[in-house]
Amino acid sequence: MTFYKNHKEKLELLKSGKLSLTENVKFFLKNIGDQKDLNAFNFVFNEEAIQSADSVEQKIKNNSAGKLAGMVIAIKDVLAYKDHPLTCSSNILKNFTSLYTATAVQKLIDEDAIIIGKTNCDEFAMGSSNENSAFGNVLNPVDKTRVPGGSSGGSAVAVAANLCDVSFGTDTGGSIRQPAAFCGIFGLKPTYGRVSRFGLTAFASSFDSIGPFSKNVEDTALVMEVISGKDLNDSTSIEKIIPNFSSSLSKDKKLKIGIPKEYFADGLDEEIKTAILNIVDELKLEGYEVKEVSLPKTEYTIATYYILTTAEASSNLARFDGARYGFRANDYKNLKEMYLNSRTQGFGTEVKRRIMLGTYVLSSGYYDAYYRKAQKVRRLIKEDFDNAFKQVDLLITPTTPTVAFKIGEKSDDPLQMYLSDIYTTSANLAGIPGMSIPIGKNSENLPIGLQILSQQFEEEKIFQLAKHIQDEISS
Ligand code: GLN
Repeated sequence: MTFYKNHKEKLELLKSGKLSLTENVKFFLKNIGDQKDLNAFNFVFNEEAIQSADSVEQKIKNNSAGKLAGMVIAIKDVLAYKDHPLTCSSNILKNFTSLYTATAVQKLIDEDAIIIGKTNCDEFAMGSSNENSAFGNVLNPVDKTRVPGGSSGGSAVAVAANLCDVSFGTDTGGSIRQPAAFCGIFGLKPTYGRVSRFGLTAFASSFDSIGPFSKNVEDTALVMEVISGKDLNDSTSIEKIIPNFSSSLSKDKKLKIGIPKEYFADGLDEEIKTAILNIVDELKLEGYEVKEVSLPKTEYTIATYYILTTAEASSNLARFDGARYGFRANDYKNLKEMYLNSRTQGFGTEVKRRIMLGTYVLSSGYYDAYYRKAQKVRRLIKEDFDNAFKQVDLLITPTTPTVAFKIGEKSDDPLQMYLSDIYTTSANLAGIPGMSIPIGKNSENLPIGLQILSQQFEEEKIFQLAKHIQDEISS
């Protein structure tokens, strides 16, 4: 039923009447129902989606439909959508309803996309496997004994299992790119500030970004044209010209590519390494200039990331205290106990671990040793990238050190879990964009992702190389 390759083709089919949008939405809804065991959705908006399909279909007939007319989109359940539940996959927000709509989501709706539901994720987007959700695990559709990645696991699965066209995830340290790699699809983390964070429940405010999962570069580029831009409701969003990403996709500019040697060192799965380097070899044969570069501070990225993001999280999550939002414990004798019991009972283990870590690194006496030092290292990590991008346009790296791991394999070992973010956290520390693109499968038939990184606000270059690789692989 989704015999279209990308949104452009879908829109042509809709316009010519060869595809009924209502039927298309019903197809996705049926798929969601048939594949309930994947647990990709926290909430599905059945009737609403069908109603929207109806009205968008009318608009298409009248030639008044927007750019994303009929694109069926699922959004991660950390994003606000007015009058719809917003739980962050946490018990503390189980019964919470949004009072407004996130800017990025509103922009989709304004262009006539159809929001089909809200996807499962790690609680407050903290995790790499979707095993930290109050709504339960999400299964990887490629192999149901494996994790889909996290924290945007449900969003990745919704696209990979054909439960929608595109989905929104959020990426604080890899939560779009890593699940995209594990599920064999495309996932983009835009430049920090490119997309408004208004309506995104804050985890680590100076790291968080919203971005799309999709099945091709074209749809990623199209969605980015729509959701990018300055927003007065988010002072960290940045006024920048939004390139016409779609029309520049095929410009083959033979961009200069850097291979950061630290990303191919110990700990990287051999099959992933070979697959990435094979692509690099092909690019060389086609005339791309490729050179080795160094990001010497790479070994500090995980430590820096987990100090700074937990610090920000401990402060951001202070607002969930039982007084203002969601869950309140009913066994308390005074105000302090009300806070204590609500937070103790409402938050899951990983969230509590991070609040405690973050509170510790910010506490007087440890602030200088941890938080301040990590801020300085963050700056040095950014400088590594600035130096690399003086020499090359783009960097190619693996997205993840391993393919999708087994459910339960790392859930008792937070350090091992944190190490699965080794190649993705650096982009958030430096505020640069990164995209994971699927480049094939390993000997066990599990997807492998290749990550492309660029300097801030150079998504256009990422798309051009991603499009080139996508077309090479599919030809
Ligand atoms: N896996 C990382 C973490 O647990 C990244 C999370 C994210 O990007 N939201 O923090």
